[in-house]
Amino acid sequence: MKVVLLPGDGIGPEVVAEAAKALVAAAPGVETAAQPIGGEALAATGEALPAVTLAACRAADGVLLGAVGSGDYSWTASNPEDGMFELRRALDVYANLRPFRDGEIDLLIVRELVGGMYFGDRGERPDGTVFDTCEYRPDQVDRLLRRGFELARSRHGRLTSVDKANVLATSRLWRERAIAMAASYPDVELDHLLVDTAAMRLVQAPADFDVIVTENTFGDILSDIAAALAGGLGVAASASLGDGGPGLFEPVHGTAPDIAGRGVANPTAAIRSVAMLLEYGLGMPAEAARLDAALDRALATVRTFDQGGVATTAEFGDAVVAALAEPLAAELADA
Ligand code: NAD
Repeated sequence: MKVVLLPGDGIGPEVVAEAAKALVAAAPGVETAAQPIGGEALAATGEALPAVTLAACRAADGVLLGAVGSGDYSWTASNPEDGMFELRRALDVYANLRPFRDGEIDLLIVRELVGGMYFGDRGERPDGTVFDTCEYRPDQVDRLLRRGFELARSRHGRLTSVDKANVLATSRLWRERAIAMAASYPDVELDHLLVDTAAMRLVQAPADFDVIVTENTFGDILSDIAAALAGGLGVAASASLGDGGPGLFEPVHGTAPDIAGRGVANPTAAIRSVAMLLEYGLGMPAEAARLDAALDRALATVRTFDQGGVATTAEFGDAVVAALAEPLAAELADA
């Protein structure tokens, strides 16, 4: 099994270093190799996603990305973030799974990742008006909805489709396709929420949700709300999956320029993303479960600053690796 590591910018390399330690400890046979992406790649090669990086990703069994971006949003021909968008599109990883668990909350957001406004036509008219267009083809909507139904079926059987069907044509298509597909999933209870209502309900009663399925931009925003309700950005992980081909696994957070370089970022989100890589990318559910359990044990005693503690990024990573070794020692003693 080969995994490509894309550390990226800001705190990306800091959290990916700990995630790589956890990966090797949880699944010693997996090979890893790092490749450049984002600002670092842009400075060295003029491209945010160099061809050599993309080729290595295509040839791998899974890809672990840190984060990309400088926090500078001025208009330029190429931004570090382009590397991430190009990679998502090139691997066609259209289904972005974002699980959130905390106390009563056990929610999975399934976000469309390679369509909609972030990938639509954009430009500027002579009068200075700028525009971003949102487009969806029926097959793009169907393949994502199918993932949502399948995932709901594998969990508690409830699927909430989020749209803005009272205003947007893309959302009306979304709702029609969801209703049509529901006939094939009689065991899944489907309901629909407008995105503004969904945002409110998520804040008021997050434990009411099982699986949310939605388009790219709505999912981006709703998942940050969910992250705020379930431990913060330091712990929110994601898996982006296509049909065959390697998946892309990454923390939900960005490069955190405000804390980068200080060794204090929480690597939990990146390490949780490794657990998702083991489960969904490499077909190693037992190793994934062991890593998740080790993370939970480490979190019970060692905390980074965002969780109210004083541990550094590396100290937290070491605690996870130590927790991974504990059950092994117990198993050896049993044998
Ligand atoms: P951000 O997620 O980088 O940071 C938001 C806040 O959360 C900051 O205060 C940060 O310190 C904190 N935070 C984030 N991750 C943390 C962690 N692991 N531990 C502790 N605290 C953490 O979002 P932003 O500031 O809006 O964006 C910064 C840059 O990252 C931008 O250039 C943006 O485009 C980019 N970005 C990239 C990705 C990605 O690569 N997938 C995602 C989001 C944002």
